[in-house]
Amino acid sequence: MTKPVVSMVAFHDPYESVTELIRLCDGFAGFKKEDKILIKPNIVSWDFDLPFPPFGVVTTSTVVHALVRLLKEQGFNNLVIGEGALPNVKAKDKSIYETIGYGKLAEQYGVEIVDFNKDSYAEVDYGPFKLSVAKKALEADKIINVPVLKTHNQAKVSLGIKNLKGVLHRKSKMFCHGLGEFDLLSTFPRIIEKLPVALTVIDGVYTLEKGPGHTGKAYRKNLLIASQDPFACDLVGAEVLGYKGEDVPYLKDFAERSGHSLNLNDIDIKGEDLDKHREFVDYDWEWTEANTGPLGFEKRGIKGLAIRKYDNSLCTGCSVQYNPMLILMMSAYKGEPFPNVELVSGKAQEASADFDNTILFGKCACDLNKNNPHIKHAIAIKGCPPDLKHFEEALQAEGIEVDYDEYIKYRHYIYNRYQGKPEFDLRHWTV
Ligand code: SF4
Repeated sequence: MTKPVVSMVAFHDPYESVTELIRLCDGFAGFKKEDKILIKPNIVSWDFDLPFPPFGVVTTSTVVHALVRLLKEQGFNNLVIGEGALPNVKAKDKSIYETIGYGKLAEQYGVEIVDFNKDSYAEVDYGPFKLSVAKKALEADKIINVPVLKTHNQAKVSLGIKNLKGVLHRKSKMFCHGLGEFDLLSTFPRIIEKLPVALTVIDGVYTLEKGPGHTGKAYRKNLLIASQDPFACDLVGAEVLGYKGEDVPYLKDFAERSGHSLNLNDIDIKGEDLDKHREFVDYDWEWTEANTGPLGFEKRGIKGLAIRKYDNSLCTGCSVQYNPMLILMMSAYKGEPFPNVELVSGKAQEASADFDNTILFGKCACDLNKNNPHIKHAIAIKGCPPDLKHFEEALQAEGIEVDYDEYIKYRHYIYNRYQGKPEFDLRHWTV
């Protein structure tokens, strides 16, 4: 049996590195000149109001640019770049796509730029469930999937298979964070089954610890990984991040369902030596054993507060607000215990007895707990996702002195940790 080929190339000159990467895995084999080719980067989030470090979070425009240039030079003219970033990611006068240079790709190479959120979707039957998928993804002859090499606090690693969640309509993205058989790890790996993914290019110019958002910590990695086999590509990507395929539940399930091997010996890795690049990158935040909050809260001596750890039912909208919520809660600590508060979130966390105050973080937690007899006093933060200013107001009204300015300071702190370090280069998000 022919082994799938995965290429690994050190990133230096973007065009040369991408060219070598594609050559080594024969990445365009089977592509026809008239093919409609959709490039799907990962632009999970951005922020136009507060400092946002995109390192290890958002696919570099440099790699996308090199890929577009190479495709054009080889005669592929029908190119589309499409993504469905969080819908609240926009500035007054320009889109996220213009901000990261895609407008220039449209001008220079005639690439069509599509915001899936503003385009049409079609319902696709996946057997146990239906999902609303961007028509541009379904209509493509070939998809080139360009995820980031990063970890994910729910899925452990977020690579090509996970990146395809971006083709879903917002409601389907939320559906993928369901319960039981519709748990995140059972739903998103199925998306690829109905999509013509012909090539995966993992952008490892940077990598991210405790991803997938900007509150994680980025490292410069300088590595690109590619394959026509999406599973083999993700398996190698996971190994580079220090995770064996069998230790990543969704990869293990995927392998069993599709007949793929989890054994690296069954993959032909060309280019860089995997052992040289394998380095563990942590995916998760440490929580107390009693599930009362991040370990850091316990270390600071915070008492009277039990924040239940997010689960897989917390979808991206709430996840993006979750770490900011932690910072806000921490800002309210002035040395005195909290007034016996529990915070629950997502679709599965039921408030427990013995608390005087229960914060219901997000519409799902509010709906689930609306008749919960354990709750003595509810502080309902109903948004979907919840709004941080509203969170501040609601808690202040209860005498919990949450301070949004502390969150702003934190945002500057996480941005500033990359400042003055030449290896973190924002020009990678320009064209
Ligand atoms: S409230 Fe949060 S977890 Fe629930 S659907 Fe909205 S964003 Fe997702």
